[in-house]
Amino acid sequence: MKIGVLALQGAFREHISALQRLKAEAPLIRLPQDLEGLDGLIIPGGESTSIGQLMESYRVMEPIRGLAGGGFPVMGTCAGLILLGKKARGLSFDPLGVMDIEVRRNAFGRQVDSFESSLPIPVLGETPFPGVFIRAPMIEAVGEGVEVLARLPQGPVVAARQGRLLVSAFHPELTRDLRFHAYFLNTMIAS
Ligand code: GLN
Repeated sequence: MKIGVLALQGAFREHISALQRLKAEAPLIRLPQDLEGLDGLIIPGGESTSIGQLMESYRVMEPIRGLAGGGFPVMGTCAGLILLGKKARGLSFDPLGVMDIEVRRNAFGRQVDSFESSLPIPVLGETPFPGVFIRAPMIEAVGEGVEVLARLPQGPVVAARQGRLLVSAFHPELTRDLRFHAYFLNTMIAS
């Protein structure tokens, strides 16, 4: 399996190592031609504004929009989630707009810039998932075709899927727990 990791800015190396631990090939993606021959793509966390600007400069915004909008498996974490949604409050340009979610950037305010929360994610089994949140967004509204996978105890949606698109507001790549990546590979790519 060959899962590209968008490597323009942010936490891409950690995704590569998670994918390699799951025995997937994980090439770095920077240019349109890098997208050829992939089985899936990960858009990592980082700064959604920088990643978005770099996607335009490297001319991968449109190709990725086309792929993700056409049923190609894409996982987005944190900034990647912001970029996949159809609307992102606090973002100065239009995100990819392929997933029917409305997102608020930096939704948790300054005092709780970063935090960890043990998250029940039923599709990953009984053991809660270690949710690492870093200046995280939240999903404020989901459309009909979107399945909510996780919420914080206070209620905000922090993981969801729609077809072969999978997003998390937290950073599974910064933990040793591979279940979120494995879910992407097993349910959206291998099947
Ligand atoms: N705060 C970042 C943004 O708005 C996202 C943070 C992250 O990806 N860890 O793009």
